[in-house]
Amino acid sequence: YANLPEIDQDVRSLGIGGLRLEKYTSQDYIIPGLSKKISGLELDVDHLARKVKLELVSFETIYDKVVKDTEKMKHIPSIRPVPGGYLNSRFGYRKDPFDGVQRFHKGLDFSVFTGTPIYAPADGVIQSARYSGKRGKHIKINHEFGYNTLFLHLSKINVKRGQKVKRGDLIGQTGNSGRSTAPHLHYEVHYNGVAQNPMDYFF
Ligand SMILES: [Zn+2]
Repeated sequence: YANLPEIDQDVRSLGIGGLRLEKYTSQDYIIPGLSKKISGLELDVDHLARKVKLELVSFETIYDKVVKDTEKMKHIPSIRPVPGGYLNSRFGYRKDPFDGVQRFHKGLDFSVFTGTPIYAPADGVIQSARYSGKRGKHIKINHEFGYNTLFLHLSKINVKRGQKVKRGDLIGQTGNSGRSTAPHLHYEVHYNGVAQNPMDYFF
């Protein structure tokens, strides 16, 4: 991309070259219609210069888009937050293990031993990392671009609110804290505030 301005100058000198041809209109005496041909050539050069410029602009647009998309990719939850683990309770309606009532399960449960490391599924900022009665020790990550992830029932929290994390960073350990019947990780993926099926976010 460092070469782009050079190309631009070449295009400009092409245009100047076209103008220089005007000096030779006196050649009309020798070859009738030559100046007409030359002005036609000038038009072609102009057209070409505009076309090249247009292509450079669209090329830059594509480049910007690729850079932006690459940045976005880093922020989309896309790895399993825990290594292995039996998928116990899936996303969707299920009988609540506490009272047997049908309720929508907004996340995915990984049955894993207490102390299993939890990794950030994408780049982001820790939005909350604290204890509450139902969620137990829990972490919420804001990944920007509309994505959030939630990790409940932990035994240990390794991050602080406001901390930046990268995909694969250790953020905590699984446990059985809060409203939980057995050691597991409850994992949620939200897009624009709506719970998504985390299964769609493992690549
Ligand atoms: Zn759950």
